[in-house]
Amino acid sequence: CTILAIESSCDETSAAVIQNSKILANIVASQQVHQQWGGVVPELASRAHQQHIVPVVHKALQDANIEKNALQAVAFTRGPGLLGALLVGASFAKSLALALDIPLIDVNHMQAHILAHFIDDPKPPFPFLCLTVSGGHTQLVLVKDYLKMEIIGETIDDAVGEAFDKTAKIMGLPYPGGPLIDRYAQQGNPLAFAFPLSEVPGLNFSFSGIKTAVLYFLQDRLKEDPDFIQKHLPDICASIQHTLVEMLLQKLRRAARETGIRHIAIAGGVSANSGLRLALQQEAQKRDWQVYIPAFAYCTDNAAMIAVAAHYKYLAGEFCAQDVSPMPRMTF
Ligand code: ATP
Ligand code: MG
Ligand code: FE
Repeated sequence: CTILAIESSCDETSAAVIQNSKILANIVASQQVHQQWGGVVPELASRAHQQHIVPVVHKALQDANIEKNALQAVAFTRGPGLLGALLVGASFAKSLALALDIPLIDVNHMQAHILAHFIDDPKPPFPFLCLTVSGGHTQLVLVKDYLKMEIIGETIDDAVGEAFDKTAKIMGLPYPGGPLIDRYAQQGNPLAFAFPLSEVPGLNFSFSGIKTAVLYFLQDRLKEDPDFIQKHLPDICASIQHTLVEMLLQKLRRAARETGIRHIAIAGGVSANSGLRLALQQEAQKRDWQVYIPAFAYCTDNAAMIAVAAHYKYLAGEFCAQDVSPMPRMTF
């Protein structure tokens, strides 16, 4: 089957075409307007989606060399995400499906991050564990099948991507700071400074403490040396990254132990982090895990992952009605 998929949950407008489980095109337009505000501004995101959606879809169809009339379904991200942003993709998908008289498929964005593992080989076998780490979520998911997933642990406050972005902001780095911390960390010593690991029972996470810890640490050091950040940026970044990665790994080890599952995947924007990718590979050698790390293009938001999810929903006959509303807090 041939499906057009649209992603508009946050600040990337994306469209992809999938044909018989093969991605033919994946266009991602990242919104630049937010950088000057230090975070995503919902109203500006909606407006930028409106501006980008037609050219992005057009380009995706063109790259895939597919005519609109050849499409068999239109898929869109129903949630979770920003309401105004989701509405743009949902409205566009509904209109197109109506005009072409083809079915509509609603996709859960967090499930799609996980299903990005079924775009390329190697594909994880069921059941597997997925640590989904993104700008808005941090979840440990027991993946039983393409569309059967159970959240066995999650953050009780901030997402780990938020912890990256907010600590970066404290250091004066632009939004999104996660990739910048990653880049500076590569030249730094991860043990230069120690930040406390959070103490949350079970498989849940907490990332709100590190913001405050970094803030107080820097305020202290800046009193003695106003150039402290400039002088030690790589070491500070490496130390923050090391702490965040260790917090993730602690819970991942526990989840692997408790479930007895050795097939372990990571997904979401923060799975692009080189420190996390390396630490996971080292852990795999030590514990005889089989690990699955997505290609960089499929870590942060993209419509290819929405398309793969839609492909499996199409096969399962799971379509949605024209009157579905976006769900900003959609779960599964
Ligand atoms: P959600 O998926 O929870 O709705 P989102 O869609 O905004 O949130 P993603 O696009 O999946 O999130 O990921 C964006 C996040 O990933 C940002 O917080 C960004 O800083 C972080 N990120 C991207 N690359 C890296 C990296 N190399 N190191 C650390 N963090 C990174
Ligand atoms: Mg984004
Ligand atoms: Fe996302």
